[in-house]
Amino acid sequence: MADPDDTDLEQFGFATRAVRGGQHRTNEGENSEPIFPTSSYVFSSAAEAAARFSGEQPGNIYSRFTNPTVRTFEERLAAMEGAECCVATASGMSAITATCIGLLKTGDHIVSSRSIFGSTTLLFENFLGKLGIETTFVGLSDLSAWEQAIRPQTKLLFLETPSNPLTELVDIAALATIAHRSDCLLVVDNCFCTPALQQPLALGADIVIHSATKYLDGQGRCVGGAVCGTRDIVGDSVYGFLRTAGPTMSAFSAWVFLKGLETLQLRMYAHCENAIALAQWLEQQAVVIRVYFPGLQSHPQHALAKQQQTGFGGVVSFELKGGKAAAWKLIDATRMISITANLGDAKSTITHPATTTHGRLSPEQRQAAGISDGLIRVAVGLEDIEDIKADLARGM
Ligand SMILES: *Cc1c(COP(=O)(O)O)cnc(C)c1O
Repeated sequence: MADPDDTDLEQFGFATRAVRGGQHRTNEGENSEPIFPTSSYVFSSAAEAAARFSGEQPGNIYSRFTNPTVRTFEERLAAMEGAECCVATASGMSAITATCIGLLKTGDHIVSSRSIFGSTTLLFENFLGKLGIETTFVGLSDLSAWEQAIRPQTKLLFLETPSNPLTELVDIAALATIAHRSDCLLVVDNCFCTPALQQPLALGADIVIHSATKYLDGQGRCVGGAVCGTRDIVGDSVYGFLRTAGPTMSAFSAWVFLKGLETLQLRMYAHCENAIALAQWLEQQAVVIRVYFPGLQSHPQHALAKQQQTGFGGVVSFELKGGKAAAWKLIDATRMISITANLGDAKSTITHPATTTHGRLSPEQRQAAGISDGLIRVAVGLEDIEDIKADLARGM
């Protein structure tokens, strides 16, 4: 079979794009995509080298710039997110860093959701702040707060939806309208849903960020990231910074993520199925005060989740009676679930946000963010649901 070209890809369904996108076979006729572990590429002559370096002739020069395995991953993920362009990065954090440094300058302003990944908050406050790029944090679902925080200097709106760990949502289409009215770019970190469950670009967002470390890999093996968007913004400004500063993806990691993308939709549906079953079971437990999961009727934004996502995701949080002591007892009683802060793995993971991911906040800040001492987050894996329930029931 010939390689599908770009026009085929656009006509293919999502699952086909995930399996076939970006593959360009070599003369060896391999069925599975090859890994190209090479740091540089040879030229047939001095003149060809000069033409490549000047940009007159397209082609590979050096793997910090381009690598065939990495390009296959980029083309495949772009096809899945419905993006013109995708660039792969060494980690999710370097995707966010490259986006901000590539697009912003001193004096520019960011409006960001308050409920974002901890390292992203530190990047905005400490490091971009030091460069004179200021950030205002707002409540994720409060559209009027976003609108009021926008200044003439605002260039970028940043968010994750659903949020971690309380699974709060924002209406992406409504926020895109607000962003574009003020000539701002809307950036969505789509780590929790992946393109299998939510496609922010189709809803009006300008840039999608990924930590490929999570569901795109899906088996907790490699650290990586990606930025998806237009050729102008991502292919030019973000990539321009990346290839110069250097936090690009290795060929080996790209190959692992490529294989992850092939099974992404299947895995996401399986994560969703286990998560909804676990959330409903947790709601019936006497020691559980409240369950946070967008798939539950009791979730205040259940209708928005149904409208904007094609599945509710794999992360379930719940609050136990008895505060920290009860939460630690439940965690320590597990025998199968992994006690680790990672998520998006076939293996279920369990975390106590108040003393780990949100441990650096003051008790007042934690209370304002809704992170109580009895809160537990489970990133529901692909084990048998009855085994997951039994493992959690041990310490209740
Ligand atoms: C993990 C994570 C990141 C950071 O990604 P790394 O690959 O660890 O650098 C960013 N955003 C979200 C939502 C994450 O969960």
